[in-house]
Amino acid sequence: MSLGLTLDDLSRLDRIDAAMKAQDVRGQFAPLGMKEVLIAEDVVAALPAVLARHLGRFGEVRVVVDPVLIRRGGRDFKADVIAALQGHRVTRVTLDDGSEVLHADEPILAEAAQRVQGADAIVSVGGGTITDIAKVASVRAGVPVLVAIQTAASVDGFTDNFSVVLQNGVKKTTLTRWPDAVLADVRTIAEAPPRMTAAGMGEMMSMFCAPGDWYLAAQMGVDSSFTPVLLELLGICGEGIEDWSRGLGHGLASAEALTRALSLRGIVTGTGGTTATLSGMEHLFSHMLDMVASRRHTAMSQHGAQVGVGSVIASAAWDVFCARMEETPLTAADLAFDLEVRVAEAQAAFSVLDPSGAIGAECAGRYRTKLAALQANWPKVEAFFADWPAHRRSHDALVFTTPKIADYLARAGSARRFDALIPAPDEDLTRWVIACCPFMRERLTVADLLHLAGWLDDVGVGRILARVDQVLGA
Ligand SMILES: [Zn+2]
Repeated sequence: MSLGLTLDDLSRLDRIDAAMKAQDVRGQFAPLGMKEVLIAEDVVAALPAVLARHLGRFGEVRVVVDPVLIRRGGRDFKADVIAALQGHRVTRVTLDDGSEVLHADEPILAEAAQRVQGADAIVSVGGGTITDIAKVASVRAGVPVLVAIQTAASVDGFTDNFSVVLQNGVKKTTLTRWPDAVLADVRTIAEAPPRMTAAGMGEMMSMFCAPGDWYLAAQMGVDSSFTPVLLELLGICGEGIEDWSRGLGHGLASAEALTRALSLRGIVTGTGGTTATLSGMEHLFSHMLDMVASRRHTAMSQHGAQVGVGSVIASAAWDVFCARMEETPLTAADLAFDLEVRVAEAQAAFSVLDPSGAIGAECAGRYRTKLAALQANWPKVEAFFADWPAHRRSHDALVFTTPKIADYLARAGSARRFDALIPAPDEDLTRWVIACCPFMRERLTVADLLHLAGWLDDVGVGRILARVDQVLGA
């Protein structure tokens, strides 16, 4: 089975859409609703023509931005975007919640939707959060055309039909819409603060560990979306990474390569109809930290940077699981559990964070879904452990080793250990996040296997962190 695609097909989205349709044996893929992706040194020059293609006339355009000044060649990039929209009736919608980094929470989403009301088109300019907000606002206000101008390659959420929003203080991925066009300005991306690109590399690393969790969830009967075609498409995202990852932070070529890889990742998520391909335990680490920051009203660290650190932890968690399976081999019976006891445990885990119990209830509800699916598919769990060596090999074929993930992060100057994040969680919080991450949502990861095996207690978490330090020290 071959898709016959390359990264160059990003400029021919119809080819990607057709290839996905041809391979969609189970009818699980979503149509690719985005019409164009332009990754170029100067996208402002192309903007008038792009908007004309999707809008068909001059109209009412809202430019959705946050207050951050973005420079390109020393100029105010957002002002240049607005200047390029000559002929349209243009209103700048600056969203500001007073924090250093804008949050996609309900008050901001409501404000955005209200302020784009009546527009013919939205042009968003900025990073992942502003793009996600623009998608939501476009859907809520019924604005037909959305053009997203990408100014950083720190996440992969531009080229998909999802938005990551905060709901009751918990980060949640919701289905929203595809932008009609994504214009990634490579010069702006290359000139962005180095931490942005470093975060993008962190986000990239989920590609080399999350498919392992996705495989586990499929084998245990908890996830029915597992399909090799999406993994093949992911393989295309990784084309040339061995070479371009060495040049990150130096010039346009590697910035463009990272942007292209992240763009295709977004399409894999959007057309695949699931974020599971690229979001396993490493993303749980990031989402849990965000949830804590949101509750405590402290600054969030960059998503991609957290995902990079989480990738090292998730990979180390798998190493520890494999090591312990050799020390004390398990059967499914060793993981058997009482559903109500476990759900109560999940609920209680969040009481330190939110005494009102709201976050605990939200997470415990999702956790219940996962455990109920696991119990309903118990013969699959038994089969998994009965054939452990083969499943371990299949898993390992989908992921990088922990040292390799750490090496790629080092090339991009990305954070590899929790204490390199800005702001950094302390070790106690890091341990709490690792121990409680299985409780956060319905997606099964290696953290669930560790937890149900009794291997995610203090000692177990200590072993994972020791494995991280062993790899980083080597
Ligand atoms: Zn991510």
